[in-house]
Amino acid sequence: MPLPVLMYHSVSTVDGRLRGLAVPPRRLREQLDALAAAGYALVGLTEALRRNGTQTVAVTFDDGYVDFLEGLDVLRAVGATATLYVNPGHVGTRMALGPLLSWDQIRDVAGAGVEIGNHSLVHHPLDVLPEALLDKEIRESTERLADELGGPARSFAYPHGYHSARVRAAVARYGYDNACEVGRRLYRTGAGRFAVPRLQVTPDHDGAATVALTRTGGPPLVPAAKRAAQPAWRAVRWAALRGLHRTLA
Ligand SMILES: [Zn+2]
Repeated sequence: MPLPVLMYHSVSTVDGRLRGLAVPPRRLREQLDALAAAGYALVGLTEALRRNGTQTVAVTFDDGYVDFLEGLDVLRAVGATATLYVNPGHVGTRMALGPLLSWDQIRDVAGAGVEIGNHSLVHHPLDVLPEALLDKEIRESTERLADELGGPARSFAYPHGYHSARVRAAVARYGYDNACEVGRRLYRTGAGRFAVPRLQVTPDHDGAATVALTRTGGPPLVPAAKRAAQPAWRAVRWAALRGLHRTLA
């Protein structure tokens, strides 16, 4: 049975090239209400994988923006939970779409039943890192999350979705149960748990379009064409690579 895994970033309204990565609270409510009305249970990724074979949609939010707190109100109103992926090295600072949650806020979110996942230490694309830096990104973020939250994270999200056999093996070595990419297709249960594809929900998806996305995995385009059609995603990737080159220089 296919498992739809939804990918959100900011719960806000953003203009310009990153617009597609921000869904305002009212739209989020409309999307999740439609899925609940269609009979889906809405839970975090590790829980969704555990429920193998039931009518479930996994809900994930990347980067840990402060505006997730508004998303949390929506999740509660709908009776849903989710997985929130944070970068331990960026907690309390800012990223492209706004300020990020503090550790106290992340602990509150975890206390409200949201799964906290690891999004790597500082959001570098992992596939281009040399082995020692790759290990450091995963080890230090894993240790920091366990220290701050009182237990290990079970789920990992590759920054920008980029991974390789080497990256997947490193994440598995640190004891994670699963890891997700971008993918833009449905996850087939039984497929590898270290490259779980997700579906990007945008502010342009109304309730019906969100239900259709979870049933079909989106319009039947080849993956390369889908990526080429996503200037917002390209912009984020390029910004990250520029940052990486600065760090390595
Ligand atoms: Zn991210």
